[in-house]
Amino acid sequence: MTTLAQEPYEPFEESEESEGFEGAAGAAGAAGAAGAAGAAGHPEGYATHDVTNQPPPLAPYDASDDPVLLEGVRREGAVWAEDGLRRLGRRAGSAEAQEWGDLANRHEPVLRTHDRYGNRVDEVEYHPSWHHLMRVAVGKGLAGAPWADDRPGAHVARTAGGLVWGHTEAGHGCPTSMTYAAVPALRAQPELAKVYEPLLTAREYEPGLRTPTEKRGLLAGMGMTEKQGGSDVRTNTTAATPTAEPGVYTLRGHKWFTSAPMCDVFLVLAQASPAGGKGGKGGLSCFLVPRVLPDGTRNTFRIQRLKDKLGNRSNASSEPEFDGTVAWLVGPEGQGVKTIIEMVNCTRLDCVMSSATLMRKTLVEAGHHVRHRSAFGARLVDQPLMRNVLADLALESEAATTLTLRLAGAADRAVRGDAGEAAFRRIATAVGKYWVTKRGPAFTAEALECLGGNGYVEESGMPRHYREAPLLSIWEGSGNVNALDVLRALGRSPAAAQALFDELALARGADARLDTAVARLEAGLTGASETGARRLVELMALTLQASLLVRHAPPAVADAFCATRLGGDWGHSFGTLPDTADLDGILARALPGEG
Ligand SMILES: Cc1cc2nc3c(=O)[nH]c(=O)nc-3n(C[C@H](O)[C@H](O)[C@H](O)COP(=O)(O)OP(=O)(O)OC[C@H]3O[C@@H](n4cnc5c(N)ncnc54)[C@H](O)[C@@H]3O)c2cc1C
Repeated sequence: MTTLAQEPYEPFEESEESEGFEGAAGAAGAAGAAGAAGAAGHPEGYATHDVTNQPPPLAPYDASDDPVLLEGVRREGAVWAEDGLRRLGRRAGSAEAQEWGDLANRHEPVLRTHDRYGNRVDEVEYHPSWHHLMRVAVGKGLAGAPWADDRPGAHVARTAGGLVWGHTEAGHGCPTSMTYAAVPALRAQPELAKVYEPLLTAREYEPGLRTPTEKRGLLAGMGMTEKQGGSDVRTNTTAATPTAEPGVYTLRGHKWFTSAPMCDVFLVLAQASPAGGKGGKGGLSCFLVPRVLPDGTRNTFRIQRLKDKLGNRSNASSEPEFDGTVAWLVGPEGQGVKTIIEMVNCTRLDCVMSSATLMRKTLVEAGHHVRHRSAFGARLVDQPLMRNVLADLALESEAATTLTLRLAGAADRAVRGDAGEAAFRRIATAVGKYWVTKRGPAFTAEALECLGGNGYVEESGMPRHYREAPLLSIWEGSGNVNALDVLRALGRSPAAAQALFDELALARGADARLDTAVARLEAGLTGASETGARRLVELMALTLQASLLVRHAPPAVADAFCATRLGGDWGHSFGTLPDTADLDGILARALPGEG
């Protein structure tokens, strides 16, 4: 293989990317100019009316202009990444990058099964905007790069990068997430990791199907779900037959969902038949499937269809079929779930991150709109009930971002050998995945409504964010599956439960409502049932979020969160904070400059 001299990893650094945005001062100026043009109406004017009371475009804006994000990054050990993060935030909020997000979703990927001569090619074509987004994401270290970086906080920096770059669009986060997540699973087979890891961690985006080892960077996907079962992968029927070469098998079967099928390599689950008297035990096992074999010929990876999905439309999700497909065993035979769970641990964190990103992005959009829109003689942002809605959304967004970064910090420290943080990560990631992704659809619907009818129209971008939100609680373990996984962690890993309560104890005595909720949680652990799993996990998530806010957020935020989410002084929809809530304090923090 080609040995690549790895550049030192500088998160978010990529010189050519520094062009194309003007920085905060320029951004504000440009927004003002756009607003003036809007107020003047169409350059040629309308015969019947002037266009008024419509907000100027939000872009360009700074997607990293969020104290919650920046404080969390410092707290979790990635202060060194802050300057790059700020640049990436301005890049994400640039008009150009925002347009890429829009175009990549309007011009959806197209499957080409055959070439003009009838040969199977099984390729997916994407709009150039998709490639622009991917190039920045990989180039800024949002795929596998942190695994090649020894600096404490490297995984936090990547998560924070996702929180800002995700303001462009969510679909391309799928292959970058899977590439990031494949690395620790692949390490179960060191000789494969030696070949592929340097390419999966490279900051080079090189699309197209070519011999993997001749490319400068690779992307990875995963194939677990089959028609008869996704959550219960033990029902997989894809068969893996050992070849004469040790560790090499051929696969026959199908997958019902395999996203980003133009990735270079996939981690795939299949049922191995015992390795023909060679000592293997058989059973569900994990395999590495490259789309192009080391000799440059195509592996069999027949893409039957692409899914017609609710959202996530920039990203292709396919149904591949394997027939004589060459695959390399990763980890021991029969240990497929144990091997691939290393990948799932990472993609679950990214689901939490993506939900938090959608919340922040739609909150920023809502805040911008209501600042520039008036009704009944006053700006919407000045109307008390609208302030309540925005403040309630802001609390939710802050809790989601803070928890995301805490989970990223735990992952970072766990990777570096911290057993306590590994135990915390084990349970808290499943808790966060359950709760934060569950809040996404309601949150994005409410933020969309802040724009009134404009929010329901595709041009606003809000329908796209709204459609994306439910996906994050489906893949990588649907709601029930995550809730049950928390019960499993409680049952099998006393250290995980202990780590969670140790974390909660750090906030003991700071807020009586939190203390009461933690006592309720402790009592609820006894005799926890499957039927009550969601209730229990919800309480875990809320106590965990509250404990973080009590320790790290301003009193206005922590108090309102505890009063509503724990103290019961709350309605059933967003915008029902009690009169005692300090709305001004919450909004000044959440929407700087939006007063
Ligand atoms: C856009 C998209 C892209 C995807 N990409 C990929 C991919 O790249 N690779 C891949 O492998 N998969 C992928 N998936 C599949 C996804 O991971 C599965 O859909 C998901 O894991 C759920 O599996 P399932 O669809 O088979 O549903 P099921 O397993 O049938 O579950 C249906 C419902 O039952 C619930 N349930 C399951 N077990 C229990 C239980 N014991 N008790 C109570 N409730 C239960 C689940 O929570 C869910 O709500 C993708 C899915 C989507 C929508």
